Amino acid sequence: MLRGTRCLLAMLAASLVAAAVGFAAATAGAAPLETDHALPNPTDRARFLWEPKQAAFERLEETLAAPRDAAERSQDDFDVVFYDLDLVVDFPSEGVGGDVTMRAVSLVDGLSTVILNLYDSMTVASVTGNLTSLAYTHSEDLVTIVLDEPVDTGETFEVTIEYGGVPAGYAFQFRTHEDAPIASTLSEPEGAREWWPCKDTPADKADSVRIAFTVPDDLVAVCEGLLTSEIDNGDGTKTFTWYESYPITTYLVSTGITNYASWVDYYHPARSDSMPITNYVYPEDLADALIDLDITPNGIGFFASIFGEYPFIDEKYGHKEFPWGGAMEHQTCTSYGRILITGDHHYDWVLIHELAHQWWGDWVTCRTWDDIWLNEGFSVYSEALWFEDLYGFEYYKDYMLADDSFGYFDGPIYDPWATFSRTVYSKGSWTLHMLRHVLGDRDDILETLALYASEHAYGTAVTSEFQAAAETVYGGSLDWFFQQWVYGENRPYYEYAWVATYYEYAWVASDAGDHWNVMLHVDQVQEDAGVFTMPIDIVLETAAGETTVVVWNDQWSQDFFFAVDDEPTALAFDPDHWILKHLDEGTGVALAVYDVAGRHVATLADGPAAPGVHEVSWDGRDAGGAQVASGVYFARLVTDAGDASHKLLRVK
Ligand SMILES: [Zn+2]
Repeated sequence: MLRGTRCLLAMLAASLVAAAVGFAAATAGAAPLETDHALPNPTDRARFLWEPKQAAFERLEETLAAPRDAAERSQDDFDVVFYDLDLVVDFPSEGVGGDVTMRAVSLVDGLSTVILNLYDSMTVASVTGNLTSLAYTHSEDLVTIVLDEPVDTGETFEVTIEYGGVPAGYAFQFRTHEDAPIASTLSEPEGAREWWPCKDTPADKADSVRIAFTVPDDLVAVCEGLLTSEIDNGDGTKTFTWYESYPITTYLVSTGITNYASWVDYYHPARSDSMPITNYVYPEDLADALIDLDITPNGIGFFASIFGEYPFIDEKYGHKEFPWGGAMEHQTCTSYGRILITGDHHYDWVLIHELAHQWWGDWVTCRTWDDIWLNEGFSVYSEALWFEDLYGFEYYKDYMLADDSFGYFDGPIYDPWATFSRTVYSKGSWTLHMLRHVLGDRDDILETLALYASEHAYGTAVTSEFQAAAETVYGGSLDWFFQQWVYGENRPYYEYAWVATYYEYAWVASDAGDHWNVMLHVDQVQEDAGVFTMPIDIVLETAAGETTVVVWNDQWSQDFFFAVDDEPTALAFDPDHWILKHLDEGTGVALAVYDVAGRHVATLADGPAAPGVHEVSWDGRDAGGAQVASGVYFARLVTDAGDASHKLLRVK
């Protein structure tokens, strides 16, 4: 009896081809949907989302390193409860000043010195506490205050700083639009200290903040929370007082002051009638803004449905236009750059990104700037979830690929090389995308986010706390995942090859019968990172349909075996792009048969081959044309993209 053995040798297209396909898919995916919701391109992502913040941060880092460290240590001794900002803005001098009161609780016994952050370009006129004038110094951008009597653990104290000046940094800016003046702020990460004295760290949220701005009476001052009063002072000024009753960190306290036009939209949550969405824009941009911002109620409703109710439901959401080149997720009141208002929904992804920050950044805030991906990566990923909901899974995949279509991700996402960078935003989003598949699917990543939020709502969180939530959902350690994707750098470079052989008596499967046996060989060849551990989806196409096999790849070089009933015609490696990776292309192919002693018996293929499936039959003859004896032989496939070998059984 002679059983002919056929070998199917195959190689898949790799990096260049795969990348081209991915890019084409992204374009093709968007076109038929006839939507103006453009996919974010990496250049816009950079210029609207992180470049302005990063530039400001780097300027700050240069000037503040040493004294800030000392201040941060001493600031651990108290917990801020409340800030009261009562400020006057003077447009002719481009100055700001007034009184800021901080109420705090001591966390140590005998607290006698309190250090707050405030740029030296601002002048402190006095510091008082308990109706008493307090001694202070102001240097190295720190105000050091000596309390009139030491405060013990759990005791509350208050200090009021009277100050003013021309803000020297970039957080508080004076500009004009159509000849109207505008003053606006963007304080993330550490710009609050440029214009008001505070314990300027994301780690310590005040329970609430009152923000009052006195401004020329033809202008409107817009801030966080609810507008509690608008008083005409009768001297050409008005005072707008806002109250944020939810916990808030210093970098989220903001204002925008100009001749705003405004309108109110509504979000209708399940548990109450309505919540106002108050939008303030330049009068000349009102028509376009009415179009662009009209997705806001739907956006809130969508995120409320997957992340939990809008966190500041008893107050408001809204936007205030400002002259920055991007946008900023100020709590309950996103600041939105003029360039983003186009009247055709072109930058919906930015609006959605800032809205998502109300949950990821404002509701749950990164405790340290090393953990900034918990804000930014989560909000970029939230964009993808929004578009997946609108346009489906294929669009979602394109959305993820678009964020990996330009350049490279430098450094880790935890303690990143640049706080506001492509790595933090886009690789951070990819990390959630990958985690979703490791956990299972969309419901599992949403369950993780819900658990994480339930433990840190209105507070702060660090990366290890998010990992703990994910591990609860996963049911085991995810240290391998976080070490390589969050704390580690770079990505796997995979090379692979596969062979399918047909046997009447199955080699791999335990049951007898006709089977195709597939051997997949996977190499990781990256030189800039250690070996990556990931489950990899392998999709085999056969006449009967697609079969997905998940292989657990955790070695530099690894073989996987599986059996299918029908002849495989194609093999796809991670076709849904669940792994941030690189695939290498190979074109040289050699397939030869060896006997058990390793002696060459026959060459079945040798030379260049296009990526794809190639079928080769062996007639059971050696290189000299003679029939070989019964027994075990090996088919060995060598390609540029990796090697594979498979046992053959010749039976006579
Ligand atoms: Zn952001």
